[in-house]
Amino acid sequence: MVDAPGSPVVVALGGNTLLGQHGPWTADEEVAAIERTAGRLADAVDAGYDLVLTHGNGPQVGNLMLQQESAPDTPQHPLDVLVAETQASIGYLLQRALDNERPGVTETLTLVTQVVVDPDDPAFDSPTKPVGPFYTEAEASSKPFETRAVGDGERPYRRVVPSPEPVSVVEADEISRLVDRGKPVICGGGGGVPVVRDGGLRGVEAVVDKDHTSRLLASEVGAETLVVLTDVEYAYVNYGESGQRPLREVSAAALRRHLDDGAFAAGSMHPKVEACCRFVEEDGERAVITTPERLADALAGDAGTRVVS
Ligand code: ADP
Ligand code: MG
Repeated sequence: MVDAPGSPVVVALGGNTLLGQHGPWTADEEVAAIERTAGRLADAVDAGYDLVLTHGNGPQVGNLMLQQESAPDTPQHPLDVLVAETQASIGYLLQRALDNERPGVTETLTLVTQVVVDPDDPAFDSPTKPVGPFYTEAEASSKPFETRAVGDGERPYRRVVPSPEPVSVVEADEISRLVDRGKPVICGGGGGVPVVRDGGLRGVEAVVDKDHTSRLLASEVGAETLVVLTDVEYAYVNYGESGQRPLREVSAAALRRHLDDGAFAAGSMHPKVEACCRFVEEDGERAVITTPERLADALAGDAGTRVVS
């Protein structure tokens, strides 16, 4: 089952595809990682796919928070403004890299994107979204902000911020019109700038999960396929244990049972799998989890974890 060229494909880029695997990163390493990923995205453009590119911003937005907090005599912007800053900085680097891959062809555009969230979302009372660097337990306990153990190893702690569920994408119609150009569009970066409808639009202090926003955006622009790119070729059952097994083609119903069995780690593989399941359960044709290197093969139905109805 392959999309007809011309139908939009939403591709969500994980932190690993933008930063390389092991932090901390230098600015040059960040550019190099983005350029590597852009090469594989350009192959998909050559194959005729209309790409709608979304991306995470957890490390970057957490670093921006630290940067401004270390300069208290400069204006302290709220988190929604910092999310918008990362949409511009990451969008710029990716747009530049894609256009350098195919000069005069890709003509990529990046759109500042707002997502509406519910002001009563319980996530505001219980921060779960990890941002910025990793800390040891001792480092974390001395920080003036909320941290949680979210990883393993010696530095499992990270700052956490609220992560409400996205309800709608404010610019969805404009994104559809940009997709109709047949050129890549970068939008929904960092999960979108979270806003509430309160008379007008008002920014709120949160970071929305990019996998959930990508799923919502894919539905709103009528994409047949949602692709989540990360650093593993497949979602696995029994991950890291004996009996580890890659999921290749899997129905949304079977994948939902693995989700309920706790096969996927919170904050990493779980949101990707949840987004893919929900996209296919609602109205999507298929969803795929794989690496940038395997993107072309995955779109041809030959690689990655492929979720079908
Ligand atoms: P990204 O930055 O691309 O969002 P994450 O680190 O958040 O990537 O998520 C990818 C990671 O999820 C993999 O590197 C892997 O270590 C981890 N992971 C946890 N559970 C699983 C699983 N069941 N199958 C595959 N990977 C898993
Ligand atoms: Mg991640």
